[in-house]
Amino acid sequence: MDFNNETEFLPFSRPSISRAAMDEVVSCLESGWITTGPRVKKFEAALADYLGAPHVLAVSSATAGLHMMMLALDLKPGDEVITTPLTFAATLNVIVIAGGKPVLVDTAPDSLNIDAQKIARAITPRTRAIMPVHFAGAPVDLDPIYALAQKHNLRVIEDAAHAIGTEYKGKRIGSFGDVQIFSFHPNKNITTGEGGAIALRDTKLVERLSLLRFHGMDREAWDRFGKKGNQNYEIIYPGYKYNMMDIQAAIGLHQLPQLDAFNARRAELANRYTAELSKWDQFILPAQPAYPHKHAWHLYNPLLQTEKAGMDRDTFMSRLKENNIGTGLHYRAAHLFPYYRENFGFKPGDFPNAEKVADSILSLPLFPTLTDEAQDRVIRVMKKVLGR
Ligand SMILES: *Cc1c(COP(=O)(O)O)cnc(C)c1O
Repeated sequence: MDFNNETEFLPFSRPSISRAAMDEVVSCLESGWITTGPRVKKFEAALADYLGAPHVLAVSSATAGLHMMMLALDLKPGDEVITTPLTFAATLNVIVIAGGKPVLVDTAPDSLNIDAQKIARAITPRTRAIMPVHFAGAPVDLDPIYALAQKHNLRVIEDAAHAIGTEYKGKRIGSFGDVQIFSFHPNKNITTGEGGAIALRDTKLVERLSLLRFHGMDREAWDRFGKKGNQNYEIIYPGYKYNMMDIQAAIGLHQLPQLDAFNARRAELANRYTAELSKWDQFILPAQPAYPHKHAWHLYNPLLQTEKAGMDRDTFMSRLKENNIGTGLHYRAAHLFPYYRENFGFKPGDFPNAEKVADSILSLPLFPTLTDEAQDRVIRVMKKVLGR
């Protein structure tokens, strides 16, 4: 599919699944072992190697990983977790589900990431963790965050759903720090259908999360029903069912070796958008971090200037859709969802930078198989819609 034909809907995201991945799925199905087993073990080892992480746990989704990580904090009523209002709802939801209170810190004025300089002011005696989100694949400024965490004895849980392949000051996200959680949802930079992974260093935490991931059982099924296994097991803890299947890992094993090429193509497309859109006055393009970094370009998000465009963001997105161009909305400000307003008293004006972004941001089509020609089609339609 090259999406050059104007009558064909061009989506904002599309997974690239190789024939080898499809063949591996079939092999897995034929093998007789389709749930968590040897392919998940191999995928975890490949991820640990790619990320430079001592431990990686594959899970059923990033949300599952974030949820277990919140549970592992053993939050008491009133305990607080600091995060950003500009994120997917899951980041906040898991805090509440685990019994915590989300404390939000606005995004920096020229960035889509949490304002690291403002986090110190949000820390209270009840703060237990900081959960930064590497928005779109641009790394959060982690040095000041880890310095604060060390000073106040807090965990840092990096929502790295957008950031596989991202580097911060020469180091890959996942290779250092406390805990990083990645997503393999179909829209993300690599996919396993649904799925996620946790990178971590603390061996006690590895043990705790392994139990939470699979019924609190001290042995996973593969270790029990395999030839060398022992069918007996103990329940150490009431756990969840958050394991990844071998069917998913079969896809992941072939996605991971393609990741760097996928991200390189995403960067090329992002640069092409920037080269064009920086000449237009209808958009503000998010500034890039001043510190050394490598961007994973999970999303390409310009901010539409309503006045200059003569229409608001939602109208612009509808017009593009009428012209067969798909876009994404990442994200609406999480604190303004009814649940969060009603239960935590958030209101418009609380986080002005994030709200301004949330009202004007959109995600343009960006995926590794998008051709230059199809991207030019996106730009042509944008010109037409804006009357340029
Ligand atoms: C996609 C995403 C998640 C959730 O990932 P799933 O694998 O779909 O559970 C969490 N946080 C952010 C920022 C995301 O983009």
